Amino acid sequence: MAEKIKGKGVIAGIAVGNILLAGQNLDGYIAKYQPGTKAAEKKKAADALVAVAENLKKSIDSFNEQGLKEQAGILEAHRMMVEDPAMSGSIDEQIDTSGSAPKAVIDAYEATAQVFETMEDEYFRGRAVDMRDVGKRIAKYLLGIKDPEIVGKVIVAGKDIEPSVIAGLPTDKIAGVILGVGSTTAHAVIIAKTRAIPTVVGVGDGIAQIANGDPVILDGETGEILIRPSDEERASYDEKIKKQEELKAHYAELKDKPAITLDGKEVELVANIGSPADADAAVKNFGATGVGLFRSEFVFMGKTDVPKEEDQFKEYKAAVEHCASVTHGEGLCVIRTMDIGGDKPLPYIQVGVEENPFLGYRAIRISLQRRDLFMPQLKAILRAGVYGKAAIMFPMVINVQEFLAAKKFVEDAKMELVHEGKEFADNVQVGIMVETPAAAVMAPALAKYVDFFSIGTNDLVQYTLAVDRGNAQISYLYNHFNPAVLRLIKRTIESANKEGKWAGMCGEMASDPNAAIILMAMGIKELSMSAPSIPRVKERIRNITFTKAKEILDKVMEMEDGDKIKDYLATLA
Ligand code: PEP
Ligand code: MG
Repeated sequence: MAEKIKGKGVIAGIAVGNILLAGQNLDGYIAKYQPGTKAAEKKKAADALVAVAENLKKSIDSFNEQGLKEQAGILEAHRMMVEDPAMSGSIDEQIDTSGSAPKAVIDAYEATAQVFETMEDEYFRGRAVDMRDVGKRIAKYLLGIKDPEIVGKVIVAGKDIEPSVIAGLPTDKIAGVILGVGSTTAHAVIIAKTRAIPTVVGVGDGIAQIANGDPVILDGETGEILIRPSDEERASYDEKIKKQEELKAHYAELKDKPAITLDGKEVELVANIGSPADADAAVKNFGATGVGLFRSEFVFMGKTDVPKEEDQFKEYKAAVEHCASVTHGEGLCVIRTMDIGGDKPLPYIQVGVEENPFLGYRAIRISLQRRDLFMPQLKAILRAGVYGKAAIMFPMVINVQEFLAAKKFVEDAKMELVHEGKEFADNVQVGIMVETPAAAVMAPALAKYVDFFSIGTNDLVQYTLAVDRGNAQISYLYNHFNPAVLRLIKRTIESANKEGKWAGMCGEMASDPNAAIILMAMGIKELSMSAPSIPRVKERIRNITFTKAKEILDKVMEMEDGDKIKDYLATLA
């Protein structure tokens, strides 16, 4: 019988492979290391910094060529940590104490990591793991340790996986990911999500039960992990894997088919993305007919300063072009202006310490006060619109005045582009996310001004129910079928349609096939989700009539208990 550990399944799918433990312990190597004179050690350390920075540069270039922006971004941040002059100073100081270059490197980066760990700001705390990762990388170079050859598919496991481990492995070699920590915003998870790699987080001390090379079966849905499974256990999963493969093949057949009901009602199924490469994969591999949410804050992450208009333009243009390549559907690329703050702080945009970051200085509230940040972004999007169909979407809007103020910025951005003689699209749609209860309540008024709504249920559910979207203890209350939430959604969609505008959804609810049918019955035009979810939703829509969906909706709207609504819809699937 296998040993079993359990965590939280965050990316569905069964993975089978041998464990590759991230986070090699270098203590033994360092103890055996024979140092030279202090001067010689300092020279060795300085040479290692140059060599490691060069190696990183090569990997960054290669990732960029493949369009793997997240990986390139992470390694770019690491390169800056290697080249930081303050670090070479503290390495020299450590050599004065210990006399050993590899030990000095580990100690210097460890000391900085510990400073990061004490910071209030979650983003900085999260960077401690990058610091240690960089220290190890340099020490390994000094010790002559090469990374192990990858044979077959591996399941990468670690307490807090160093981002470069995932970024440095060929994605087709990673069958699964296991994280000790529970973070869903870890870089490792962000990368795994866009590549649909089955992932389990939050296994805690369970990670200590896994050894390098252990055969493992991982279920990214239930969060179950079987270590060294018996032949019978393997066989029981073989059946599930076979089904998974069959389903994949079936989904691949659906790729180019429309999301249309048996009686001819069509819905656009589009993707949530964080980079142009995601858009490319969404269109090519999953049949997305466009992008309903480009989380532009990803363009701002992993950098030390605000990206310039020109750099942003390149990113948005590439995403717009990928969308324009669709053979079916609208090919629209909805780019959300940066949603910084809340759970997405940035080192170079000072938000300050807040009691309630989710209710604080974030998203459109920052953009409206920071013309220096907002204008280059709007100009970049307007210019990208020339290469296909782009739309601008504002996050966290709570009233008409905010929308009108933001729209005025768009007009100003156009004026500036005219003066600068730069080409831009004049017909870019401008809409808002409906993710605050205020926006949903005021939807009839807002609908008069916007070109579209996109409902952000991740936040709308948390704000409506006063339930933190990331708090595991109260996650049983976080239900997008709560009748209060359903009423706000229905009101939003109907308000848009009444004014001849369109409504979509880009919160996680859109990826729930049982939700999709009632949303469609409410009159939604577009559902946007992480691309691997598209086939499941499409399958559900293609197997029901619009008439039946409306009957189901009527019944659901009479019910008063969100849990019962969820169960009822599940029985129909
Ligand atoms: C949402 O709130 O539903 C949404 C899509 O935005 P984010 O998850 O980026 O807050
Ligand atoms: Mg949101």
